Order: sequence, then C-alpha cells, then structure tokens
Amino acid sequence: MISKITDCTVLNNGLAMPWLGFGVFLVEPGKETEMSVKRALEAGYRSIDTAAIYRNEASVGKAIQESGIPREELFLTTKLWNSDQGYETALKAFEKSMNRLQIEVLDLYLIHWPVVGKYIESWKALEKLYKDGRVRAIGLSNFKIHHIEDILRMCEVKPMLNQVEFHPRLRQADLHSFCIQNQIQLQAWAPLMQGKAFDIPEIQEIARKYGKSPAQILIRWDLQHEVVTIPKSITPDRIIENSQVFDFQISEEDMASIDALNQDRRVGPDPDNIDF
Ligand code: NAD
Repeated sequence: MISKITDCTVLNNGLAMPWLGFGVFLVEPGKETEMSVKRALEAGYRSIDTAAIYRNEASVGKAIQESGIPREELFLTTKLWNSDQGYETALKAFEKSMNRLQIEVLDLYLIHWPVVGKYIESWKALEKLYKDGRVRAIGLSNFKIHHIEDILRMCEVKPMLNQVEFHPRLRQADLHSFCIQNQIQLQAWAPLMQGKAFDIPEIQEIARKYGKSPAQILIRWDLQHEVVTIPKSITPDRIIENSQVFDFQISEEDMASIDALNQDRRVGPDPDNIDF
C-alpha cells in the first residue's frame, strides 16, 4: 500500500520515482511558479512536473535551488516540445531546458506529444541523452498503444513511463494494461479532470463517505491503480489538501464504482489529431 508522500514506484531501469508529484501547467512563470513550487516542497512533494512549453522551467529551477532541499531528494521531469522534435533539435532543446532548470542531470525527459514523422528521431535523441548520463530516465507523453508499438519496434532503450490524460471519465484501461505488460509506468495528467470531475455525483458521494474531498478521492484512485499522479494547484490550502491522500484506502467496491464512470471522454486533445 502506498502510505506516504515519499513512497516511490520503481521504473523499469531501477530508478525510484515518487507516486505523487506536483504539476505546473498554466502556472505563470516568475513569482506564481516559484511560490507554488516552494509551497509544494514545504507540503512534502518531492517530484515536480514541468515542460519547455510551460515557460516556467527557470522558475521551477529557482524555487528548487532556493528550497535548500538536496538535489538527490528531488525528482524533476520536463518535456521536449513538438516544434523541437527531431534528433539534433531535441538535443539542443534538452540543453536549453537544463540551462533554465540549472541542474546537471535531469530525472525524467519525455516526448511531449507523438508528432507524426518526428517521434522516432526524437526517441533516438532521448536514448543518446540517457546513454550519456544526462537524464536518469526517458519516456513518452500522450502516446497511444500504436505509437508505443512504433517505439518498441526500433528502440534500444525501452521507455520507462508514459504520461497521459487519465481520470475517471477517461480510464484508459487498454492503454494501462498495455503499459503494464511492457513495464512502462503509467502517469496521469489532469488527474482532477482540470476541475471538471468534482461535480460528478458519485465522486461527491464517495468523498462524503470517506470524509475526504473529491480531489483527494480522485488522487487516491490513481495511486490505488498504481498510476503516478501530478495534480496541479496554485492555492496553498489545495496544494496541502492534494498531498493528504495517504491516510485512507478506497475499498475495492468503490474503486470499481469509480472505474465505471468511464466515458472515454477527454478534456485535452486526442493524440491522433494534434495540430500544434
Ligand atoms: P488537474 O487535473 O491537476 O487540475 C488542476 C485544476 O484543478 C487547478 O487549476 C484547480 O483549478 C483545480 N484544483 C486543484 N486542486 C484542487 C482542490 N483540491 N480542490 C478544488 N480544485 C482543485 O489538471 P492539469 O494541471 O492539467 O494536470 C496536472 C499536471 O499534469 C499539469 O500541471 C502538468 O504538469 C501535467 N500535464 C501534462 C500534459 C501533457 O500533455 N503531458 C497536459 C496537461 C497537464
């Protein structure tokens, strides 16, 4: 049972990664990101998820420097943006991210979206960065089964993780099984459905039953499915609330009721139809 905020999954290369992390999508660069990350670190989160396209890597870097927390206790993820995909361009984009984050070695580098015609070359660049010791783990984001199969056919290093939209309205059961079979850790983005899952009556009812908030139920549901999760908030109380998910267990019956809410409904783009 996942019982504390520093509990980790072990990726297929042996690297430990916290089950719970803190996401900073749509958090303004500068003070807003710095304060949010500092508050998350104070609340006990040790894993931060950013991306080049969020334009707040430098603020994440500043916040972790100023926190005084030893680098080895932190787990930092960033992502290769679509317009930088390709071999040489990916290597350059990685160095830019590292300069902004002000770190020597990254924990996890992801291909942000499966850009058709580009993601194979991008993967080769990530493999080079991994073999060169610049990054401790490499992975994918928004990859469907057929995209992952493309990578598995050509790769020298198997992806360690796939970060996808995942919440009760988008259960992703087939993708999850496929990832388990291939030792690829699944990670949830929009675990709170970007705020849209709080109104689901069944979630509210289960929250009342456990004396928890809907957000805590949604996060705990991820953890009990052994899906790494990275809720985002810039509100201090909610940052803390979202970290308090280790003192209760959702019953199997209630897990099944939440699973049954699936409607294959996305709040974000379908990875097969991206135009950005
Ligand atoms: P989320 O599901 O984490 O929802 C965030 C929103 O929920 C907040 O803006 C806030 O309005 C609300 N919220 C948070 N905690 C709450 C609480 N306790 N009570 C009430 N409301 C609360 O959505 P997200 O930010 O899109 O996803 C989480 C993280 O995943 C991002 O920050 C980012 O790091 C990552 N992400 C990755 C991708 C990708 O393509 N790889 C896409 C989107 C997000």
